[in-house]
Amino acid sequence: MTLTRSDIGDDSATSRDAPLRAAQMQDQRREGSRRSATSGRFGGASTSVSERPVSAYYLISREWVLMSPIMAAGFVVTGIGTMSIPSVTAAVLALIAVVIAGFGGFFVRYERETAGNLGSRIATMSIAVALPMLLFGIALADWVHVTGTYAWDTVVGILTIISVVGSVTLTGRLPTIAAATMSLWLASVIVSEALVSYLLFGIGFIVSGVAIARQIKVDDQNRAQQQELDRRQARAESILADYEQTGQGWFWETDRRGTINYISPTIAKLLGRKAESLLGRPFTDLFILDAEGQEGERTLNFHLSARSSFAELAVRAATKDEERWWSINGRPVHDHFNNFMGFRGSGSDLTEKKRSAENATRLAHYDSLTGLANRFQMAQTLEKILSAQREEQRSCAVFLLDLDRFKQVNDTMGHPAGDALLKQVSQRLERTVGELGRVGRLGGDEFKVVIPGRVTRDNLASLAKRIIENLSQPYTIEGHSVVIGASVGIALSPDDGVTSEELIRNSDLALYAAKDGGRGRHHFYAADLHSDAEERRQLEQDLRDAIISGGLELYYQPVVHTMTEKITGFEALLRWNHPVQGPLSPAKFIPIAEEAGLISQIGEWALRTACHELAKWPESVRVAVNVSPLQFANPALPSIVTNALAAAQIDPARLELEITESVFLNDDSGTDAMFAALKRVGVRLALDDFGTGYSSLGYLRKAPFDKIKIDQSFVRGATIKGSRNGAIIASIVSLAESLGMETTAEGVETLDELDLVRMLGCSHIQGYIYEKPLNASSAKHRLDSGLIAIASGPRSARPVRQTMLRKITLQHGAEVYNGTIRNISTTGALVEGLWNVPAGTVFNLQFTADQVVAAICRWSRDDRMGMEFAEPMVLDESGMIGVNSPKTIRLATDTGLLRKAG
Ligand code: C2E
Ligand code: MG
Ligand code: MG
Repeated sequence: MTLTRSDIGDDSATSRDAPLRAAQMQDQRREGSRRSATSGRFGGASTSVSERPVSAYYLISREWVLMSPIMAAGFVVTGIGTMSIPSVTAAVLALIAVVIAGFGGFFVRYERETAGNLGSRIATMSIAVALPMLLFGIALADWVHVTGTYAWDTVVGILTIISVVGSVTLTGRLPTIAAATMSLWLASVIVSEALVSYLLFGIGFIVSGVAIARQIKVDDQNRAQQQELDRRQARAESILADYEQTGQGWFWETDRRGTINYISPTIAKLLGRKAESLLGRPFTDLFILDAEGQEGERTLNFHLSARSSFAELAVRAATKDEERWWSINGRPVHDHFNNFMGFRGSGSDLTEKKRSAENATRLAHYDSLTGLANRFQMAQTLEKILSAQREEQRSCAVFLLDLDRFKQVNDTMGHPAGDALLKQVSQRLERTVGELGRVGRLGGDEFKVVIPGRVTRDNLASLAKRIIENLSQPYTIEGHSVVIGASVGIALSPDDGVTSEELIRNSDLALYAAKDGGRGRHHFYAADLHSDAEERRQLEQDLRDAIISGGLELYYQPVVHTMTEKITGFEALLRWNHPVQGPLSPAKFIPIAEEAGLISQIGEWALRTACHELAKWPESVRVAVNVSPLQFANPALPSIVTNALAAAQIDPARLELEITESVFLNDDSGTDAMFAALKRVGVRLALDDFGTGYSSLGYLRKAPFDKIKIDQSFVRGATIKGSRNGAIIASIVSLAESLGMETTAEGVETLDELDLVRMLGCSHIQGYIYEKPLNASSAKHRLDSGLIAIASGPRSARPVRQTMLRKITLQHGAEVYNGTIRNISTTGALVEGLWNVPAGTVFNLQFTADQVVAAICRWSRDDRMGMEFAEPMVLDESGMIGVNSPKTIRLATDTGLLRKAG
């Protein structure tokens, strides 16, 4: 609302105290306008609407009393002028006139007291004004008449002066002036007794009457107009005052020097001051002008000195405690001669608006849960770097982060726990990245880090490792210990892209590769990831088709009792003969099934199929089915198992579920409840791949396992001299025995390994030494021929090794690494220098400029890895491995090798 005083017709508003006075008169006026509604003409005191017009409506003026000395003086001057002494009558009459006029004050009060009674007021006026004038006139007339001086010129002069002065003292009161003048005239008419005088007086009387009547009419009109004007003004002021009082808005006015003339009391109160104490202070004192000079204040100073209008200027109020903001408007005021008089304007509170605007900005730019920058803000940050003016400032690295197993926490512990976890993750992530870059959350369990500047790949890699390590430390959520992991994909500008779209897409591909490589890793973007992603997408589609068309099959690998060498059961293993790529390892397609949400469907099918097969086997034989952690997290698992058992009508004790350690990563009541529920169903439980993942033994205390499966990575190499695997197997066996659990050694391939695990006390053996996985009919066939298993295979696992220390380079995609060969055989090599390489990674090993050998990483521990060559090497004449002979071996891009890698 921007009503100003000029809008309401106050032409004195530019005067120094006008607005204040107007404000103070507010109540008075409101009262007045209420009264005026019942007023009659001539109203009197109670009918007036304001002080200014009131005085004109009384018949007797306060100044009338002055007529007393003036009449006395007139009388004396007459004596001097005529050089005569008045008659006694004249002197008495003049004295009475002077005395009555001298009581003017009394009559004035009386008239005001009897204001409501017009007759009484006219009578009072007649006594107070008309009577002394008449008496004075008679006294003068009598004087010149009786004394015979006939100095009419003197008398007329005196009477005229008296009449004029009387009119002056009665300012604007036409009826009274007429009464006074006529009375003075009447005196000489009475004294002269001439008919013509009476006639003239009569005419004068009528003219006066008409003039009075006309004047009353004009006065009435003026008064009505004035009342209307006052009413409007009062209403406007009342509205403005109400507006001021609500605190929504306020008014201000300055003089030409910029000091405050008027300020709404509400503002003074807000600033903890009195309105009066602000008067005369510079207008800018109302605001906080900080050193940096807020935009609003700079603009304000500019407008004030330029004497230009301004609107909706945001300024900070000079409040002591709470931060408050105002929006102010102002315009310069000029007088009629266009002289600058100062500024006048209004203000309104902006605090809430500003707060909600800030809130909205915060919401638009920050993630409400973690307080980190959101997707939008991160995109802006990246965009800003990439569009920097100088090219060298456009370098940056983008990390895309995905939490491993977060979904499980969210699904099993509930969303509040998931939220709490995300908050802790954000804090750790911010702490780890620190000043190096900016951290944001893209949504869900996806985070992004932008590292500006050119940072070496080594430094980026070590940052990524630190992030993964810190995020993988246990969290305490609602009193439970929770462990999750993180995978990181990294893309660099300008190497991997110069637009934000490219960088995001490429870091996303790198992230995918990191997850694919077994999670808990980082991966730099490489050009071949595009084809990997495409291949993966294709594989997912093929897998969906395979599920529908029955392209999946279950194979069964015998598990043999160490002592009796009898088959005690089979492990059901998924097989997929891909229409183009041929047989694919479950290690490759199970993660895809898990990610695509297909695992529960496949898992249920595997359970039903295995149970169905089991029904055809001898009673003593069991079947073991692998259960993915995602299936384990599904509360419906016990009923799915029960249904499968019921459909095949088999004893629950003949079914064994193989569960990996990762289900313990979320140490929550859901896991315990699931174990209890499965035990109630009556199935056996086996802990698969023991020792490869989450290395905490605590869970073994409470989880009701019947068996521990020792991972083949411990069996492999256990027979090699100096290997500690044997000791590890021995301790797992004794641990299992003390807990009353069986042990199965997985992946036994050679007679040496068989002898070793037997010696170390494993109760069961599963491996190629007895049998590879068989299809359903072969397995049935195998059982039909009896349960006895016969070990057959090589005595020792490896060809002879040659120790050497030889530097080579390893090429993977676009990346080239340096490594050292520690030992080599015709089929593979031990390479040192690369940390934590995912098993299955394919490299081209460059021995010399023209000798390149393709090899697959089979295992990796710390900075060492075992590599299998794509094709066996040839021995040279001296019986040594010909790494120097110019024989180029097939490159890793060969599809046959890739298939093998899978
Ligand atoms: P796993 O449960 O540890 O299965 C044992 C793996 O070792 C099988 O690999 C098996 O073929 C292999 N193996 C057994 N003996 C030997 C040996 O002497 N030498 C060698 N080199 N390997 C041997 P496979 O069939 O490729 O399965 C790989 C993994 O895929 C399994 O490891 C299991 O984790 C997963 N998997 C297989 N079938 C299923 C399934 O139906 N459901 C789920 N969730 N996972 C499955
Ligand atoms: Mg298994
Ligand atoms: Mg296993």
